[in-house]
Amino acid sequence: MAPMSLEIVKAEGCELIDVSGKRYIDLIGGISVANVGHRHPKVIAAIQAQLEAYLHVMVYGEFVQSPQVQYAKLLTEHLPASLHSVYFTNSGAEAVEGAMKLAKRVTDRTEIVAFNNSYHGSTQGALSIMGSEYWRGAYRPLLPGVHHVEYNSFKDLAFITTETACVIAETVQAEAGVKPPQADWLKALRMRCTETGALLVLDEIQTGFGRTGKLWGFEHFDIVPDVLLLGKALGGGMPLGAFIAGKNLMDCLADNPVLGHITTFGGHPVCCAAGMAAMQALLEEGMFAEADAKQALFRQLLQHPKIRAIHSFGLWMAVEFESFEVCKEVIDACVEGGVITDWFLFAANCLRISPPLTISEEQIRMAVGVILSSIK
Ligand code: PLP
Repeated sequence: MAPMSLEIVKAEGCELIDVSGKRYIDLIGGISVANVGHRHPKVIAAIQAQLEAYLHVMVYGEFVQSPQVQYAKLLTEHLPASLHSVYFTNSGAEAVEGAMKLAKRVTDRTEIVAFNNSYHGSTQGALSIMGSEYWRGAYRPLLPGVHHVEYNSFKDLAFITTETACVIAETVQAEAGVKPPQADWLKALRMRCTETGALLVLDEIQTGFGRTGKLWGFEHFDIVPDVLLLGKALGGGMPLGAFIAGKNLMDCLADNPVLGHITTFGGHPVCCAAGMAAMQALLEEGMFAEADAKQALFRQLLQHPKIRAIHSFGLWMAVEFESFEVCKEVIDACVEGGVITDWFLFAANCLRISPPLTISEEQIRMAVGVILSSIK
């Protein structure tokens, strides 16, 4: 699979500019990273202020670093009361690793239940729970005791037992092509976890930060996870992940052995400062209030006999074509036409729309014009 190989020299808002001066509308935001747009002025100012103060000064957790403390405070102010302890990591995958370790310590169990067609990262633990043998098979042996079951299957909830340390699910399955949970399934999953004592870990690395039209995806479904995983937009364009749980749970990582999860750069002060500014901008500017209206505009405009379906949740869409080949042709022609889009790992026949939440009506109209004229 050849990379796009664009050489970008500038990014601003919803636009990228390449080395030849050509402008692109960015419909994927670095894969759900640039939710507040590229180089939001508040993010740039926060980064600059932190550069003047300090960069890395100590491995995570040893010193009190105010960007970490303040950002953790802001996050927990906007989360249910039970999610009040934040552990910052370098990446989404490291957050997944931390959550799996935490679940083992909290429950004294080792089995993990994950879902077919889920993606949680590329490190060996995260790869072990990835929902596709095609992607994980070549790297065996991986973690033992992982059971893959069907997302949205009420029947498969029976695979969650008193041996299960945790169940890891995406609130909305991203790489399956934006696949939301069916009505009440997440509630049933929550109940099954509570019954069996398994921790419910929700991966909101793509679902979080307004993508779905609410700050967190789980708010649509009237449940609260035991552990929440964040990444991507969490850092406002800088590398940052987090696993968030109750302090009563998180304390299990602090004892016997001490330092149950160690990270040198996790919660880097510049990344925390950037992420906090991005979250403040997201909230202050009400960026996700129009997610559904913008989705509706995309849907209204995206009419073509070759579009088989549009799967969506908030400002997040998978436009389905008959095959990967057709989809790839459209993606390549879009790039030619000045629109950046992509496919999905487990839905390669679907074109990805996951733009900065700030995308304007005019940009939506221009981008859809290019998509439609790219369909042969
Ligand atoms: N979880 C989900 C849902 C993701 O989409 C990703 C990355 O694409 C990850 C976890 C892993 O995050 P990272 O690439 O930062 O390790």
